[in-house]
Amino acid sequence: MKKTFSPTKRLLVKGIIATCLLSVTRVGFAAAMAQVIAVRIWPSSTYTRITLESNVILKYKHFSLTNPNRIVIDINNIDLNPTLKNISSKVLKHDPYIKLIRVVQRDPKTVRIVIELKQGVKPNTFTLSPIAKFKHRLVMDLYPSKPASSKDDDPLLALLEEYKKGDLNKKQSEIKSPTNKNKNAPVIVVLDPGHGGEDPGAIGYNKTREKDIVLQIARRTYNLLKKEPNIKVYMTRNEDVFIPLKVRVAKARSLHADLFISIHADAFANRSVGGSSVFALSTSGASSSAASYLAQTQNEADQIGGVSRSGDKYLDNTILDLVQKTTLNNGVLLGNAILNRMKRINKLHKPSLEKAGFAVLKAPDIPSVLVETAFISNITEEKKLKTASFQNQVSKSIVDGIKDYLKRRKN
Ligand SMILES: [Zn+2]
Repeated sequence: MKKTFSPTKRLLVKGIIATCLLSVTRVGFAAAMAQVIAVRIWPSSTYTRITLESNVILKYKHFSLTNPNRIVIDINNIDLNPTLKNISSKVLKHDPYIKLIRVVQRDPKTVRIVIELKQGVKPNTFTLSPIAKFKHRLVMDLYPSKPASSKDDDPLLALLEEYKKGDLNKKQSEIKSPTNKNKNAPVIVVLDPGHGGEDPGAIGYNKTREKDIVLQIARRTYNLLKKEPNIKVYMTRNEDVFIPLKVRVAKARSLHADLFISIHADAFANRSVGGSSVFALSTSGASSSAASYLAQTQNEADQIGGVSRSGDKYLDNTILDLVQKTTLNNGVLLGNAILNRMKRINKLHKPSLEKAGFAVLKAPDIPSVLVETAFISNITEEKKLKTASFQNQVSKSIVDGIKDYLKRRKN
């Protein structure tokens, strides 16, 4: 038998369904409102980064206005909560690009963020998927539209520009290492303090951040090397700024570096683990599973620190494939020289040089090593890493290791 409703009944049913739909939509709408859970601003002389971390991916659009220079970001379907309101207080006086930030409820569904600028900027905006302890992130990097000509011709800004466009690998392949270099030419050393900006690196029990410690150690090493008559020294970063791994390598290559030394502090879940270690690049697997795990976590720095997608246009191993045997051998020689000095100031985590596929060691023509100064996750070593005396000892070990290497290297 065919069931039929009387017109009144049908109307009533329709009404109930409509009410249900309405309440579902209301609940659904409230639940879908995005929440900003953290706001961070990282000012640096190279670029300033604004990060909005949220529970869901943010829907946004942005545009620039002049007189005065400002950038407007409209975010849809977002709750103007206290965390987001607080963005105004995150602007630092010394920020080279941002004067102030205002945030207003533009309409019931839209929040408008207005960034007033100190100079013309080129914004680079992108989103990052959750990784490690981070949720969804909306990132806006502010680069100078007219870069100031720096005194020491730092190639960093130009390299970041190439990286953004996805041209870095192509441009890098055009760099030729200078052949028959003058024997008396200074040895060019590039120091690379790991992590920076959004990427804190490992964090100790007492909240000491790897990125801060390794910058302090790199600065001390820089000052020691500067006193050496036949050495010219540069740093990949000298601020709390995030630099992608490939850009670090590219900077060293652009400066025609003879040596590249990446400085880090190790971490492990078991806090009793400690000691210093030195790594050279391996093109054929890691020397231990711990080394392989470490390389994997360190290579994640780009996802944690955050790079726009165009930067990953080319496969990572295109550089790796070109690494020359002499470079690898000299890397081992340099690593052993530094390890021999390190063992006089701290116990060693492993008795010999370790090898792993660190992305930051993959310059084809520069002997490169990575120094894990000590374990920041070990409470005793965390304390030590913060002291000027241990930092000076590490710096001196690196410098003496370099000098030992230079006496022994093969060309
Ligand atoms: Zn590290």
